[in-house]
Amino acid sequence: MPIRFIEKIMMSSRAAKSKFSLAMKFNILTISLIMVTSLVIATFVIHDEMTHTFQELVDNGMSIAAVASQYSEYGIYTEDQEALMEVIESLAVEPDIAYVCILNKEKHQICYKTFEPSIQIPTSLHHLIFDQPQQAHYEEYINQKDGKRYIDILTSVVSPTEFFLEDVKQPHQKLIGYIQLGISQKGLEERIHQFLLSTIFFTSLFVLLGVVLTLFMTKRITLPVKELASIAQDISEGKLGHTIKIHTKDEISDLAQAFKQMLKNLRIYRNQVEERTGQLKAANIKMKQEIKERKETEKALRESEDRYALAARGVNDGLWDWNIKTKEVYYSTRWKTLLGLNEDDVGSSMDEWLRRIHNDDRKKVETEITAHLDGLTSNFQNEHRMLHENGMYRWFLCRGVAIRDKLGKPYRMAGSITDIHDHKNAEKQLLHDALHDSLTDLPNRALFTDRLNHASNLAIRHGHYLFAVLFMDIDRFKMVNDSLGHMVGDRMLISISRRLEECLRPGDTVARFGGDEFVILLEGIQNEKEAIEITDRIKKRLSVPEVINHQDIYITASIGIALSEKGFEKPEQLIRDADIAMYHAKVNGKDRYEVFDAAMHTRAMARLSLENDLRRALDQEEFQVYYQPIYCMKTNRIKSFEALLRWLHPEHGLISPEEFIPIAEETGMIKTIGIWVLRKACRQIRLLQDQYTASRPYTMSVNISSVQFEPSLVHNVKQVLQETSLDGNSLVLEITESLLIENADQAVTLLKKLRKLGVRIHIDDFGTGYSSLSYLHKFPINVLKIDRSFISRMTHDIQNTEIVKTIITLAHNLKLGTIAEGVETDHQMRVLKELHCDSVQGFLFSKPIKSDDLDDLLKKEEAFYKSELSV
Ligand code: C2E
Ligand code: CA
Ligand code: CA
Repeated sequence: MPIRFIEKIMMSSRAAKSKFSLAMKFNILTISLIMVTSLVIATFVIHDEMTHTFQELVDNGMSIAAVASQYSEYGIYTEDQEALMEVIESLAVEPDIAYVCILNKEKHQICYKTFEPSIQIPTSLHHLIFDQPQQAHYEEYINQKDGKRYIDILTSVVSPTEFFLEDVKQPHQKLIGYIQLGISQKGLEERIHQFLLSTIFFTSLFVLLGVVLTLFMTKRITLPVKELASIAQDISEGKLGHTIKIHTKDEISDLAQAFKQMLKNLRIYRNQVEERTGQLKAANIKMKQEIKERKETEKALRESEDRYALAARGVNDGLWDWNIKTKEVYYSTRWKTLLGLNEDDVGSSMDEWLRRIHNDDRKKVETEITAHLDGLTSNFQNEHRMLHENGMYRWFLCRGVAIRDKLGKPYRMAGSITDIHDHKNAEKQLLHDALHDSLTDLPNRALFTDRLNHASNLAIRHGHYLFAVLFMDIDRFKMVNDSLGHMVGDRMLISISRRLEECLRPGDTVARFGGDEFVILLEGIQNEKEAIEITDRIKKRLSVPEVINHQDIYITASIGIALSEKGFEKPEQLIRDADIAMYHAKVNGKDRYEVFDAAMHTRAMARLSLENDLRRALDQEEFQVYYQPIYCMKTNRIKSFEALLRWLHPEHGLISPEEFIPIAEETGMIKTIGIWVLRKACRQIRLLQDQYTASRPYTMSVNISSVQFEPSLVHNVKQVLQETSLDGNSLVLEITESLLIENADQAVTLLKKLRKLGVRIHIDDFGTGYSSLSYLHKFPINVLKIDRSFISRMTHDIQNTEIVKTIITLAHNLKLGTIAEGVETDHQMRVLKELHCDSVQGFLFSKPIKSDDLDDLLKKEEAFYKSELSV
């Protein structure tokens, strides 16, 4: 209802607007009408007045002419000029006379007079023939000279008069002459002029009145109406805050009052509407709530319906009812369709069921039914496979219960079968996933442990039963991952898995323990030899390269073998033993196998305790740094030293770095130890420089483990250099070749930063790692240190000499220096000299010595050198 009301108001507001423009139009129209009417009236009146006045002038002229004709009869007759002039003069009293002319009967002027200056008496009427006496004619005449209008009258003068008495008896009128009069139209023009003036005056008056009226109407009607219209517009837009101030005391005022009332009502309506809207909203919310509740109820209802349906479907399981006495079995239709059978395909014997059960399951089913009938179980429940009409076996859950007579003897047994095939498969998959590695699909640690337990149980039960655990780790697998990417790494692992499976006998288990670790369980083997044979087979199979992305990838593995015959307490112990053996295989050069023995265990234990001792060694100040001099081949003089770490163990004495550094690396302790060595060595060289620098700018080489080779190394080196105020040029870092290759990009950035500090880089043990000679030029390195193994073999092996020669040539081509390590004989020294090796280091010159002995060494060297010079 309020909406329709507002619509009405909108309509009326539009109407008000159009009325307002009409009023304006009306006013303009009125004024225009007044003006047009005035003009029309004035035209008519002027025309009428003109005709009337003209006629008056003519009549007046005529009568003057008539009078004049009477008075001038005699004069004309006698052609007495004087008398005629007198007559003319007497006419001068008439106001409009412009000229008077007296003509004889031949129309010749006898006498005339003009009363206006420059008037020319016209002759246009002179040709007229007056056949009747006392006739008169007139015409309008415009004087050429002043352009004024005149009425030219020509009237005839006739006798008898008293001058023609002799003819009285025979009165006939005789034309004797003419009187021509000119009447001025000036009066007429004046009157018209006056009339025009009054017309303009009255028209203006009316227009003025019209304007006043318009203004009045605008003020009294239009403006209030406009105001009301705009209010109506606002109302239509819902603005009801107006106060109407119209007090005109007329219909408009009434309208305003009506508006006021309307506004008031509208406000009330609006409040009502708002109130109602609020109520509706509340009702809406409530309704929504109710709908929600109803939906929930419906959902609950549906769920319970579903449950019903489920239950019904449960009932839909295949049913069977076995009458034990008649040996007849009732199979429900559903029972048959579950097996893909038609109603008539199945008879009523127990065999119909039993013969469809999988061979592996039938016995168990029969036993359990018998047990139940014998009262040994409260109900029968069994999962077994049954042959479906499509030739496949499906899993069913069969439940049943026997019905017994008073004596407890069963006479009937009934139950159901449920198809649990999909469920069983899902369960199987789940179980499979839980026990297998997702990448390779090999058994995982859990399944392996289970099988291992099984084997160990067998071994415990049967003393002669033997089995073996093989622990296998792929050599340098990290490099495959780092250099070729994880995708290739993953493909490699899958390929390795398949190869391992191919090598094994049925019943053996290969599991992946994560990363590149595989563990194999060889069950029921005859002896150690058999385990080794299988291991060899595996190694051989692995040695075939795998082609990935057109690239041959070679891999090797280190394998540890642990045999059950060697004795174990717990099955997992065998895994651990195999792991220890594998570690030995790695240490002993990789790509090989080791069989676990007791000594390994002892060593592993020793290693463990060493690891514990190592943790304390730094604090206990058990470390020392030894220094081995490096000699320049050209000058035969010491040019630098290599810092070599020593551990003086309180019980075991001096332990070789080759023994404890791998442990320190594995545990990460090398980071702390490494900085300690760096600091110690830098301090030492600084000391030597202070003592001897004048003559010898010694440098110090410090070994850097791959574990230390990370961004923080730059910071550490910088700090130590600052601490010891050592010039970066005096420090050399020795790193291994493999470190560069395994992480080339990172290595380049790190090395560049180190080189910025002035530090030089030597490649240690060059030739033993993965030779990637083509890469060398990429790295900002200074010297190649030829590995000891090449130098030592140089003595009796010409091929090794060639290798050393090649390395030196290569280094020189790459503008790198060379240091030969482990020089022990004069022969080696000679050959190296021939090959232009730059520097040498080895027992031939000096073993690594304590810091205390350095002074002695340098002094001796100096003395020797001086003596050489003097020779
Ligand atoms: P390396 O860097 O190759 O060091 C040279 C090794 O060769 C030293 O063994 C040295 O005593 C030995 N040597 C030198 N000349 C001869 C010789 O003529 N004949 C023989 N047979 N050997 C010689 P050392 O001191 O036992 O160090 C073994 C390895 O331990 C080093 O090999 C190095 O890789 C590592 N190492 C030593 N100290 C440190 C250290 O402070 N930090 C790190 N990360 N590794 C270190
Ligand atoms: Ca070294
Ligand atoms: Ca070395």
